[in-house]
Amino acid sequence: MVDGTPRIKVRRVEKPPYVVDESRLRRFNSRNIVFERVMWDPSWEGYRRMYDEKVLDIIAEGKPGYSRLDFALSYASWIVRDGFEGGLSWTKIKPYRPPLVSVGIDWTKMRYDVDDPHEMSAYIKWAGRLIGASLVGICKLNRLWLYEDVEIPERFENVIVMAIEMDAEAIETSPAVPATIATGVGYSKMAFVLACMGEFIRNLGYDALQCGNDTALSIPLAIDAGLGELGRNGLLITPQYGPRVRLCKIFTDLPLESDKPIEFGVREFCKKCKLCAEHCEAGAISMDDEPSFEGVCRSNNPGALKWYVDVERCYLFWCENGTDCSTCIKVCPYNRASMLTRASGDREGVTPGGILKGML
Ligand code: SF4
Ligand code: SF4
Repeated sequence: MVDGTPRIKVRRVEKPPYVVDESRLRRFNSRNIVFERVMWDPSWEGYRRMYDEKVLDIIAEGKPGYSRLDFALSYASWIVRDGFEGGLSWTKIKPYRPPLVSVGIDWTKMRYDVDDPHEMSAYIKWAGRLIGASLVGICKLNRLWLYEDVEIPERFENVIVMAIEMDAEAIETSPAVPATIATGVGYSKMAFVLACMGEFIRNLGYDALQCGNDTALSIPLAIDAGLGELGRNGLLITPQYGPRVRLCKIFTDLPLESDKPIEFGVREFCKKCKLCAEHCEAGAISMDDEPSFEGVCRSNNPGALKWYVDVERCYLFWCENGTDCSTCIKVCPYNRASMLTRASGDREGVTPGGILKGML
């Protein structure tokens, strides 16, 4: 373990800061996501186990942070994500005002000419921040990151990746329920942000496929889009918030300029730190000094150089805990470092540049 706070000095780089063995890395099949395997894979202990199966017993124990109130708010925090179908829409959510459509006026179907993808990207980032995304990055779609069982047309070549910050104080309570509330709020905010951004793009006459964790691996896309690097805990580490974010993305044919990836020394720091592995109650995070290309369970995708997280163990801990867990987010020094340095955080690229200059 290393002491202290990592220094965050971000530099833009030409290539994403990950290493893959191209002879081994395959597209990941979404059937192997641990939550999917709960439904179909009797070969592991988590089969047909729901992680809220013990909630009543846990409430009865009376532990702080596991009360009926905490669970009630936790379930409520997910409601926009779970109850609002527009959050993950791939088509127009709301038709333009019917009276005008009936007389043939629907300007939202007219394609907006994008003369300058750089300016368009600046506007997208400004819009993303305005509607609630904490970070917005753009990359070309590397189709290796699409799930093996998903295809989307070639014209969707750009990806807008957005990160939503989760509440720091609530995450500090992990593995108790308030941390889960922060997670649920992150997912519900994600639905709002996705819907506004997707509909904005469709109002410009382009297509937008709004995605949460579905359709493709979010973390490598976020790395490609310059939002952060991969940590030992298997999560995206951002300079601004550490791993304390949820990720979502939109695939689009809107012409955009990609961001360059960033590097700020996460892998080297993780080699010595190991705090997430030491605090993980499931023993799911590797203590090895060096990352590897080998997965440790069926829900990993071997062929990328990283510390593979045993997500089977992680899920089984959630079942015992009665709720999910954010301890590997809570203890990460980048979480703390990012809280300290946020005031001077990187807001690069979020102002709309020339597009709004004339208006401000
Ligand atoms: S979420 Fe909790 S159980 Fe899962 S890897 Fe992180 S610390 Fe371990
Ligand atoms: S807590 Fe884990 S992910 Fe965070 S810096 Fe330490 S080793 Fe890396």
